[in-house]
Parts: sequence; C-alpha cells; structure tokens
Amino acid sequence: MKGNLFVVSGPSGVGKGTLCKMLCEKDEKIFLSVSATTRAPREGEVNGVSYHFLTNEQFDEKVANDEFYEWARVHNNRYGTLKQTVQDKLNEGYDVLLEIDVQGGMNMKKQENDAILIFIAPPSEEVLRERLTGRQTETPEQIELRLKNAFGELEYKDRYDHIVINDDLTTALDELYALIVNERNS
Ligand code: 5GP
Repeated sequence: MKGNLFVVSGPSGVGKGTLCKMLCEKDEKIFLSVSATTRAPREGEVNGVSYHFLTNEQFDEKVANDEFYEWARVHNNRYGTLKQTVQDKLNEGYDVLLEIDVQGGMNMKKQENDAILIFIAPPSEEVLRERLTGRQTETPEQIELRLKNAFGELEYKDRYDHIVINDDLTTALDELYALIVNERNS
C-alpha cells in the first residue's frame, strides 16, 4: 500500500528537524526526504544525508530537467524537493516527511492535494526568539534574517491542516506520531 505524504513546516528554530528525526527513529516506515540545496554544509552535515549539496549550476540543471516537485529561495539559498525520491518511497509504502518551508508547503498542496500539511509552532514568539538567538551555528546577520523569516512563516500557520505546538518535545512528538498513525488507519 502506498504511504502518505506529510509536509512539516514551521519557523527556523522551532525544533521541526529534531521532531522529524525522532519520528524516523521511532518508526521505520517513516522516511524523511532529503532535499537539494545550494547552501553550504554546516559542520557535521553529510552530503546525501542532511541534504544533497549542489552548486548553483547543478541546481539550475535540475530545475531545467523538471526534477523538483517544488523549489524555493529561503534565507538567500535555494532548496528543492526531488520528485524521484518522494515518489519511490511513497510507492514502497513509506510515509514520507518533507521538512520544507511554507512556500514549499503551499506549492506541494497545489500539486498533491492528498498531502497532509503540519505546522510546528513555538509556544510563544519570545521562546522562538530565544531559541534562534541561542544557536551557535549562524552569524548575527544570518540570525537576524532567520528571525525576520521566522515571524513571516508564522503567518501561514492557519493554512495548514494541523498545528502542533512544540513546548514539550515528547508531547509534540506524540501528537505528531498520532497524526501519522491516524492517517495510516483512515
Ligand atoms: P536549513 O538551512 O536550516 O537546513 O533550512 C532552512 C529552511 O529551508 C527550513 O525552513 C527548511 O524547512 C527549508 N527547506 C529545506 N528543504 C526544503 C525544500 O526542499 N523545499 C523548500 N521549499 N524548503 C526547504
């Protein structure tokens, strides 16, 4: 049986990456799609695992060959969802998670009406600000840009099918997992 497609969005720093990883560890039939990006790898990120890290030219080529479901410019870099990976995994029966931004979420819904859109929200704007400024991986300019984008992303939350508030990680994980299991059984 074909799996379900879930879009997981939310502002930078909300913990959506951690939650997606935990879901995959919890259930081997959940697959986190690996996007392509022109962003430089951060320390510890492995090509093909975190992202497929591409040059601008390689990314352009994939756009020209229609290899992306959607792609978007986020924080001055380009990110895209590869059609082949997603379709193969869905056909193999995996539930596929796309951890993508709100532009990508809106685009995916247009193309795949069955996609289930989940927005991960912070408990408050103050908490989000604290989480983003506390990160050690970005420069102050990058943090400023991410803060601006984060508040812009929050405005999309009502266009998602479900909102999960990440106040307590375990509770948020349980809620997310329940949504996935519920879709499997419906
Ligand atoms: P980061 O640079 O922190 O890994 O990701 C930055 C943003 O890009 C996040 O909001 C993430 O969800 C988004 N993103 C990652 N992959 C994709 C993708 O394939 N498509 C779109 N539209 N956004 C993506």
